[in-house]
Amino acid sequence: MTQDPEFRKTKIVATLGPATATPQALGALLDAGVDVVRINSSHGTPQVRAEWMDLVRRVRQERQRHVALLVDLQGPRIRVGALREPRTLAEGSDVTFAPEDEARETEIPTTYTALATDVATGARILLDDGLLVTEVVAVAPPRVRARVVYGGVLKSNKGINLPDVHVSAPAVTDKDREDIALAIGHGADYIAVSFVRRVEDVHAVRSLVPAGVRLVAKIEKAAALADLASIVLAADVIMVARGDLGVELPFERVPLAQKRIIELANLHGRAVITATQMLESMIEHPRPTRAEASDVANAILDGTDAVMLSAETATGTYPELAVQAMARIIREIEREAPDGRRLRQRRRGDRLGDGPATVDDAIALATCAAAEILAVPLIVCFTKSGFTARKIAAFRPAVPIVGFSTEAATCRQLALVWGVIPELAVRVPNYDAMLEGARERLVARGHARPGDRIVVTAGVPFEVPGTTNLLKVETV
Ligand code: PEP
Repeated sequence: MTQDPEFRKTKIVATLGPATATPQALGALLDAGVDVVRINSSHGTPQVRAEWMDLVRRVRQERQRHVALLVDLQGPRIRVGALREPRTLAEGSDVTFAPEDEARETEIPTTYTALATDVATGARILLDDGLLVTEVVAVAPPRVRARVVYGGVLKSNKGINLPDVHVSAPAVTDKDREDIALAIGHGADYIAVSFVRRVEDVHAVRSLVPAGVRLVAKIEKAAALADLASIVLAADVIMVARGDLGVELPFERVPLAQKRIIELANLHGRAVITATQMLESMIEHPRPTRAEASDVANAILDGTDAVMLSAETATGTYPELAVQAMARIIREIEREAPDGRRLRQRRRGDRLGDGPATVDDAIALATCAAAEILAVPLIVCFTKSGFTARKIAAFRPAVPIVGFSTEAATCRQLALVWGVIPELAVRVPNYDAMLEGARERLVARGHARPGDRIVVTAGVPFEVPGTTNLLKVETV
């Protein structure tokens, strides 16, 4: 096992925001253990977000860390428009929604012009993450009248969810197209697709991004759960986006949906992020609640690759403490409860035994088995695109996977993947030279000692991604 006491297999995603968008604050987050920085395109101007993306690249460069940049698209999110001042919605009263261009002073402006064509009497219109609930009583296009069921104070730009409604908005909006171009121009490693309803929504974004940029499908709609297997296969990473999922679905369905999404992502070898409200109380307090500590722990036990912080690091008072708390919980769970992983590994093995397997699956499973039988401290893999490292990680081996790649972008993307320590390798002509360089680096970084045995895997030739075909046992 690597001698690094800070080593964790489960990764941490942190959302950048006004609370952390300075070199010092972001540097502190990276030092506390952040592996992936997320920028939410729902907030801020393109100029501000571009500056933040550049900041992430600068700070990770200064710290010589492989940290991925994840840009999250707003998607077809419906919002309240600009209100002159916050409005109190009284229970039992009626409110009128109207497109923002036509809304009168007394009406609630919305960014969605088709609201009146999509909803019918009896449909619920939820506001501000479902905290305010209204029910449609009359539709007179382009206006919708609704009765307030649960009231409260409504502020500008709050999200609107329509859980009972098939929303006709396009999967990729004009704003998304602009934000995708911005993200690509500023070096995003991952782009997250919001409000995925069906597999075509993932394909639509795929057609707009270069091959090297990997896509995260956010599961936050009931429709996505119905088409989950094909969405998981079409995406590179899955996010359990519990914020909107818990509004679109009855909240009591979220825990089992989370387990199902993680299990399916694990099965198909897709990395999975568990997101939203993980340490919510740390927005205002320096310690998490016991329930939050348990929630992070349970996501790890479910098999998530990464856990995510949103407002905790974007706008909260204790962003660095929130990352530290997450890292502490992860290390404790990984030290005390490794059995779940072995179980999963065996289960995957059984499943492979049932049906035809690919060469890369067989090599990946054999690599994990060899590592366990020989009790080596780590697995080394040489990987150009990250494919081999992801394949190994999918089997959840007990020891770290050191993923050597000649591509800096691959190293950054591997920062999200469970159990992988990315290392940038110098381009060399053959396997022996690659191994020699790896030996020196493993010792220099404290991952292994001279004389340690290691299991090495790769796809040979190195230049052809997607071929994992080599397994060797070497000595450092
Ligand atoms: C979520 O809904 O949980 C989520 C991660 O998306 P957003 O923060 O964009 O609402």
